[in-house]
Amino acid sequence: MSEGTAKKEERRKFQAIRGTRDLLPPETALWNHVEQTAHDVFASYGFGEIRLPIVEQTELFRRSVGIDTDIVSKEMFTFPEDFREQLDLKRDFLAVRARELRNQLLAKAAMTSFISFTSEFVDLAGSAFSRGQIPQTAENKDSLDQIYSRILSWERKVERKEFQCTEQDWFLFLSDIVLLANRLEIGGLISLRPEATASVCRAYIENNMQQLPQPVRLYTIGPMFRRERPQKGRYRQFYQIDAEVLETVRTDAVKQDSTKELNKDAAVDAEVIEMVMTFFEKLELQGVQLDINSIGCHECRPKYVELLRAELQKVKDRLGADSQRRIETNPLRVLDSKLESEQKIIEKLPRIADHLCKDCAEHYAAVKRELGLRRVSYHENWRLVRGLDYYMRTTFEITAKGLGSQNAVCGGGRYDGLVELLGGPPTKGIGFAIGEDRLILSLQESGKMPAATRRDVYIAWMGEKAYAAAIRAAKTLRAAGLSVELPPE
Ligand code: AMP
Repeated sequence: MSEGTAKKEERRKFQAIRGTRDLLPPETALWNHVEQTAHDVFASYGFGEIRLPIVEQTELFRRSVGIDTDIVSKEMFTFPEDFREQLDLKRDFLAVRARELRNQLLAKAAMTSFISFTSEFVDLAGSAFSRGQIPQTAENKDSLDQIYSRILSWERKVERKEFQCTEQDWFLFLSDIVLLANRLEIGGLISLRPEATASVCRAYIENNMQQLPQPVRLYTIGPMFRRERPQKGRYRQFYQIDAEVLETVRTDAVKQDSTKELNKDAAVDAEVIEMVMTFFEKLELQGVQLDINSIGCHECRPKYVELLRAELQKVKDRLGADSQRRIETNPLRVLDSKLESEQKIIEKLPRIADHLCKDCAEHYAAVKRELGLRRVSYHENWRLVRGLDYYMRTTFEITAKGLGSQNAVCGGGRYDGLVELLGGPPTKGIGFAIGEDRLILSLQESGKMPAATRRDVYIAWMGEKAYAAAIRAAKTLRAAGLSVELPPE
């Protein structure tokens, strides 16, 4: 490196990574105010705070958020775990070595070294398997067993004095090992969390919370990560205030009286919505609008989706490229479209409210009744479909003023069955996520200022002799709860 380049390197300025930003005082005072209000309001509804890790196994999000969603298919920050990197390297090396050995004459030393290398690989994979780091599936177990047994038989063969084998045997062994190694599904990827619901469910299961009095009410505040195109109100590291209510189902309850259960669920949904609206009210958030919808359940939604798909096929030529693609992949998402030219067409499409099954219709009616009882005003929006796979029945979104096109400050919904999908007991769930960055933006747009940094006392000490007394005075005053500035000179 030339001296010039080295100097330039020294002077290089570091910048926050694209889509991330620093939150500075005095603005952070507003963040603290928002978070303190969340702690107070949520506690008054019986919610307890849960703090979660920022990284989780990638598989958790693939399974819950869904592999076809934008979040999982292209927006997660994903890394391999240590053991995954080692296994990948060893597996690649195994394949390269096997290819080289195919072109060499049969040499005992080369065979021994390949066998011992394969042993190392399978030992590492085997211990990761028994620790549950790589998926403990029957296929993985079978691949590992087969590799072990092939190594064992070749070790015996090579050790024999009158060792003999044909080229064909050896080639077969090499290609079997590579094939079996490649068949192993290694997993071992971890991701920065793109949302919190999946982690809350994972924690619910892992900490046996189904044994607590039900339902369990939890909330959490923290950063989420999505590799989205940054713009106002959209960041790659953003903050969410997230609340969830989970209730493991008593198997006898559903059968006993389904209307009672549906009404109870509706009351829980409405209370959660009431809580977030109360929170926004306390913060004096302006221009708040609550949109609600029911997106049905596994009984009625698939039938509606098929109907929608068939209707969309009929108007396909008049739709944009994105919507045309979504007819196949996810027709519900077409309803989300903001494209001007598509609005008239979408308005004429069949509406899910007319195609809900009896239980979903009953539940949706009860939610609206419950919201009325709580004096929560809402706007029914049949086009509100949420992007994540796990929602069913109630979905809702809250928008606020001053946010331009990114005006959703909160999204939520019901997700019965998600805990079970993640390996837990049959459990009902409802929750929401507030985008804290957008909430703060909206508050700022409407002129909400952070509390000014308080300064109660300024000690203007003069002369060396007064300094010691000034330090003591500052300490005493601070202990009494005052904010004190003591200039160093
Ligand atoms: P979602 O988890 O996608 O339902 O989002 C819930 C809320 O989080 C949204 O309504 C937004 O307020 C906020 N949000 C989602 N993605 C971002 C982002 N990239 N930047 C800032 N806020 C976001």
